[in-house]
Amino acid sequence: MGEFELIRRHFARGQTGPSVALGIGDDCALLRPSPGLQLAISSDMLVEGRHFFPDVDPAALGHKSLAVNLSDLAAMGARPLGFTLALSLPAADDAWLKAFADGLHALADAHACPLVGGDTTRGPLNICITVFGEVAPERALRRDAAKAGDDLWLSGCTGEARLALERLRGTPWATVATGDEALCRQRLERPTPRLALGMALAGLAHAAIDLSDGLAGDLGHILAASGVGAEIDRAALPVAPALQALSETHRLECLLQGGDDYELLFTAPQDVRQAVLAAAEISGTPVHRIGRITADRGLRLLGADGLPKDLRARSWDHFAPGSDPVS
Ligand code: ADP
Ligand code: MG
Repeated sequence: MGEFELIRRHFARGQTGPSVALGIGDDCALLRPSPGLQLAISSDMLVEGRHFFPDVDPAALGHKSLAVNLSDLAAMGARPLGFTLALSLPAADDAWLKAFADGLHALADAHACPLVGGDTTRGPLNICITVFGEVAPERALRRDAAKAGDDLWLSGCTGEARLALERLRGTPWATVATGDEALCRQRLERPTPRLALGMALAGLAHAAIDLSDGLAGDLGHILAASGVGAEIDRAALPVAPALQALSETHRLECLLQGGDDYELLFTAPQDVRQAVLAAAEISGTPVHRIGRITADRGLRLLGADGLPKDLRARSWDHFAPGSDPVS
């Protein structure tokens, strides 16, 4: 199978959409953003051995490659228009490619975000997606827009993906009940981008970020960009059943330093609490109010007694010493 046959068979499946004037096959794709809206653009690269295990299910990998990019659009409050795929492959394995493309296209179809172009080359397995979206000016959920006094909100819950990763690594403390094992694996391998919630929050919330590297570290990006601090109430953090059996130390590690959660963390003024809950309701996404933004810099975790607990805010950093890849 040659390069063009591979593209035709697996990637150019005739997908299109109202925002696509010209898709795969020419020198460029042509997108048609709505008049007056701004383009939102984001790229994410997934590398074998660093972001996923070599034996990962290819359909799940196709899903996750696009999901992490759509999650960035969600965190900006943007609506997807389309995406490109730059793929480096060691060999043209038809069964693997079919499963990968099926996983990719299923998520793309679910969010009306068609594949409009890309590049294909031989080399170590490496998947780079660039996603294009649109958002109205002044409505984008930027990291630098948090204000002292804002509520701090979290969609869904954190930590299950981290627990699944520790299970795959064989970490002794990572125990989980049989029923929860598959659920945690699902969270790690098939994250749900919170697009509907992000769009419902655009123009309502102040700042937002999607959680890819752990709650504490990713919140740190909002705090630094906005020049503010935050308090998290330990008792307000949602805890998935799978995390109940862990010690509090390991549970907190999963909750705050997990990574791969792909939930939205956002801030909003206190007087829009009801509107935030309504946005959660219409988007079918649970949200929890987990703390507040403060004028005092720094991040504090408050225990049930209201007193600060020790919080070593660490998150995933590919260039930090000792940042082992997944394998
Ligand atoms: P070029 O010579 O301009 O780089 P290519 O020959 O690489 O173009 O690609 C031909 C067409 O197929 C282009 O429209 C390109 O966007 C598309 N394409 C290539 N690889 C992929 C891929 N992995 N997924 C989707 N479209 C692809
Ligand atoms: Mg090319």
